[in-house]
Amino acid sequence: MNDSKLVTIAVRTRDGKRVGDFEIREVEGGFTISRTPFVNHFSVTLPPAEAQPLIDAIKRNDWHTVNEFDPEILPWYCPECRRNYREQAWRKGLSMTVDPDGWVDGFHGRCPRGHRRMIAD
Ligand SMILES: [Zn+2]
Repeated sequence: MNDSKLVTIAVRTRDGKRVGDFEIREVEGGFTISRTPFVNHFSVTLPPAEAQPLIDAIKRNDWHTVNEFDPEILPWYCPECRRNYREQAWRKGLSMTVDPDGWVDGFHGRCPRGHRRMIAD
């Protein structure tokens, strides 16, 4: 694969501070989209038809749409505030929730205004 096909797009707070990056790489059969680690690493390879709307939203900095694809893609984002916060601004904790298969643990975070969201499960 050719590194010239790699596109890096910064994720910023409303006041312009960079909180992380997305890397989009064209690979055989589609695109691999990965981001700066935040609790976990995130990387997904999708066929072009599925990847394109997500890539378009990332390029437009349309973070609300990106978050709706999968909240784990965009852990900096608070959907209630509709803004990104840097990782250090989130109060993070391990959470235990019950689902039909039993106890599942994950990470949740609280934004500076106190909204709670899952970061990773
Ligand atoms: Zn919030």
